[in-house]
Amino acid sequence: MTIEKPELPEMRELWQQTLGWQPDSNGQHQFQQLYEKILYSNRQFNLTRITEPREFWEKHLWDSLRGLVPLGLAEMAVQKQPLTVIDVGTGAGFPGIPVAITLAAYRVTLVDSTRKKIAFLKTVLTKLGIDNATTLTARAEQLGRQQSNRESYDIALLRAVGSASACAEYALPLLKTGGVAILYRGYWNDEETQVLEAAVEKLGGAISSIEAFTTPLSHSVRHCIYLQKLSRTPAEFPRAVGIPAKEPL
Ligand code: SAH
Repeated sequence: MTIEKPELPEMRELWQQTLGWQPDSNGQHQFQQLYEKILYSNRQFNLTRITEPREFWEKHLWDSLRGLVPLGLAEMAVQKQPLTVIDVGTGAGFPGIPVAITLAAYRVTLVDSTRKKIAFLKTVLTKLGIDNATTLTARAEQLGRQQSNRESYDIALLRAVGSASACAEYALPLLKTGGVAILYRGYWNDEETQVLEAAVEKLGGAISSIEAFTTPLSHSVRHCIYLQKLSRTPAEFPRAVGIPAKEPL
């Protein structure tokens, strides 16, 4: 049986127009390999519903990197400082893998509580030759209480992991003071901002900005919420495993 290998579109102009950046040929090759690996493993693992080439480009690659634009994506891509990123609830590797491919000097930690997803990601990192990313099978609530991970990261990324307040409780304990958490959301409203604001304050942070945009092919609505860590998170957070999701702050 021959295995079909659909090709990802390159979209050079669209990358440049929308993000002020475009992948080099090595990055493009790694995106293509990532796509093939996910398509192939999807039969076994059920990793994503997004399998069409243009949709994969938009909803997985473009969307993952769009969140970094307000932080200066193009400059970050050429920066030499080894800043640290943690992707909490990375699933099939989003946004963390496109970020590791793009920000070569950064160190990216991919976290998920599902062992088989992390096992899959390890094979992805090997196959794509990504050496600036590592994986952890863990719950965010546990990591946030470990000395080796608490107050340790410059940037936390969370896409489609739970309520915004739960995401804040996962992310803020992991950040260094001055660090930034990016919550990738679909629709968003002012009421949600108010609820999140109260939660973030308890965790030693503040909402620094909210960006609304649409994706460039299907014009789907997205919001990215940027949280800044202002002071150390009180020792009571994160609460025990399961509580942030069940009883959001
Ligand atoms: N970020 C990916 C996956 C979203 S699905 C994407 O946008 O495509 C949510 C993932 O978060 C699942 O893989 C689930 O196992 C993981 N997850 C949920 N709660 C978690 C927690 N508390 N700690 C670690 N991982 C968690």
